[in-house]
Amino acid sequence: MTSIEHETTADVLARRAQYVSGGVSTPRLVVAAAEGARVTDREGRTFVDFAGGIGCQNTGHRFGPVVDAIHRQADLFLHQCFMVGVYEPYVETCRLLAELSPCAGPDPKSILLNSGAEANENAVKIARAATGRPAVIVFDNAFHGRTLLTMTMTSKVHPYKAGFGPFAPEVYRAPAPYPYRGVTTDDALAGLAKLFKSEVDPQTVACVLLEPVQGEGGFVPMTPDFPARLAEVCRSHGILYVDDEVQSGVGRTGRVWAIEHYDAVEPDLLVSGKSIGGGLPLAAVTGRAELMDAVPPGGLGGTFGGNPLSCAAAVAVLEAIREPGFLARATALGESLRARLDELAARHPGIGEVRGLGPMLALELFEQSPDRARAVVDAAFDRGLLLLSCGLYGNVIRLLPPLTIADEELDEGLAMLEEALAAGLAG
Ligand code: PLP
Repeated sequence: MTSIEHETTADVLARRAQYVSGGVSTPRLVVAAAEGARVTDREGRTFVDFAGGIGCQNTGHRFGPVVDAIHRQADLFLHQCFMVGVYEPYVETCRLLAELSPCAGPDPKSILLNSGAEANENAVKIARAATGRPAVIVFDNAFHGRTLLTMTMTSKVHPYKAGFGPFAPEVYRAPAPYPYRGVTTDDALAGLAKLFKSEVDPQTVACVLLEPVQGEGGFVPMTPDFPARLAEVCRSHGILYVDDEVQSGVGRTGRVWAIEHYDAVEPDLLVSGKSIGGGLPLAAVTGRAELMDAVPPGGLGGTFGGNPLSCAAAVAVLEAIREPGFLARATALGESLRARLDELAARHPGIGEVRGLGPMLALELFEQSPDRARAVVDAAFDRGLLLLSCGLYGNVIRLLPPLTIADEELDEGLAMLEEALAAGLAG
């Protein structure tokens, strides 16, 4: 054993403070192990995980088929670079994404990348190449990533944008529906129509990007008719519809893709990420061949995009989550979770709304300030529950447990959540 293995949480946090950039925000947790819906720290204390590495563990930590696939691939080769030598796990991941594609048009193809932000950047490149147009429309409360273009597309100044300008050009923002805070579908579409009058000619717009359930922005599901009405606006102007499912996809809402909850919408491009790699970095852009082949060879790619280990894991994840049993369990989890959160909301007046889609659920606190949500997250940690907040005002508590969580673990987590709410909302 090395001396590092003997270090306590306090030792590691001290070294973290010394050697790791302060620009990365980190909690008090130092992880030693994780399995299913449990995380264990250096001192052997276990936590029920309602954070899932920010939505990357829909199949649970160390999901058996993922770990086996990684081991098998590790025994064959690690890095290859798809641009140097084609390998089967990359192709198989794209084949599965084609089978599961919710996109419009025939012959879906994909490109694999390392992160959600990189995939969104590539979706914009593809949309621009396919349409010959420069502009991009995004929405209030959006989160699309932290790179220069995706940070520009993201809708929150602190901490994502402050001090990082100048921003990328040709990005325009429209309102998004948010019924709890008074923005209806009609309001949002009126805002878009006004944007076309005041800021950008729709004939110059390559694409819109929209999360069907806005993730970092507060777990705000789009209203039932918004995606279809937006798609109609897009069709009338020749604008492509990009569906950012980095957080809402891969079974998170009880369907493979959240957009499947919305009738009559077939996006042109789908962006996936997070849970698709089962814990390894992977993201993808998927769309009909005509769009995906609009970029000449060499225009897309990257050294590590679709690395063999991530692809082996993704094949195992996609095969697991497409199973009706997996999705039915996720849907049932969503129903029981929502009933329990409704009960909590009835008991705690500080909770303004319970909302979400399937098991992608959150509690928005009435007060538009991060303080109480922070206090709840802290109190949850003290009790052994990992929880995350989100939202423009940081006042939304989101739940991202593995969809494979056992009933007893869910009960345990919810009991700690209730205590944490009582502590955090007191006074
Ligand atoms: N898009 C959405 C909807 C996300 O939630 C995120 C990350 O939270 C991203 C894009 C960026 O993904 P990544 O952090 O992998 O770059």
